[in-house]
Amino acid sequence: TIETQYEYIQSKDILKFTEKRASFSHKGTFGHVEMIGGSYGKMGAVVLATKASLRIGAGLATAYTPNCGMQILQTSVPEAMWTGNLPCEHFLEGNYISTHKTVGIGPGLGIHPKTQTFLHLVIKATKTPMVIDADAINILAKNKEWLNQIPKNSILTPHPKEFERLVGSFTNETEKLQKLRAFTATYQCLVVLKGAHTAIADVNGTIYFNSTGNPGMATGGSGDVLTGMIAGLLAQKYTPLQAAILGVYLHGLAGDLTIKEIGMPSLIASDLVNYIGKATLHM
Ligand code: AMP
Ligand code: MG
Repeated sequence: TIETQYEYIQSKDILKFTEKRASFSHKGTFGHVEMIGGSYGKMGAVVLATKASLRIGAGLATAYTPNCGMQILQTSVPEAMWTGNLPCEHFLEGNYISTHKTVGIGPGLGIHPKTQTFLHLVIKATKTPMVIDADAINILAKNKEWLNQIPKNSILTPHPKEFERLVGSFTNETEKLQKLRAFTATYQCLVVLKGAHTAIADVNGTIYFNSTGNPGMATGGSGDVLTGMIAGLLAQKYTPLQAAILGVYLHGLAGDLTIKEIGMPSLIASDLVNYIGKATLHM
């Protein structure tokens, strides 16, 4: 059995590995995120994730969505580029060719059978750690054999319901944490199990609990912002563990800074994006 170690992430921990920008850097220094997701009526999720990846400092971002998302993305995130499989209008389907960017996949993706096949192609074509969230997790829960093919040290970011779909139900906290460790060991990936005090499980069995965040963040789109933040940190060459820890910490901090100025029930996911900049002053 693995010796379990628990850690509690606080400000001093993230300060150990955060880096300042060098004067002679350029946008290529900070990586390129490819945020894959969206479907008809669920394009906002990719908008939030793409924006968040830029706000956390990715040099470039491209949103990869079905055709119906092109105008939406170009209008709401003018800083990002757009790409897609032109024939697919309402959901992603068809071929996927890797362009070796830092991939985040899942927000608003939907679970159409053709999108499931598309996800499988993305997983097989991607060779470096990727961020897997939302419907991408739901699709993997339906096709568990694909879990063996995800790039080593990728980061899955399920909320408790999505995690349950992956590993089956659990009756208490101990069982939940056991399943978390077993999952990361089996598939050699990291899991960010979201909620109050989000748990980040490393492949070696260590579990890190987050100290930031508040119930104002229990609102639609919150998780999509986190996906973009972690992908943006991966693109900037933080290790997957650092990207997960720093992303979760700053995401919660953005929420905490938001509710200093507006009431907790009023917090919406766009506020988190807008406060990422203030949160990064603490790193
Ligand atoms: P999702 O369900 O995918 O939108 O993700 C929700 C996000 O909000 C996760 O990052 C959670 O950690 C965060 N969140 C939700 N509820 C709370 C809470 N009560 N306290 C702190 N963070 C929360
Ligand atoms: Mg979510």
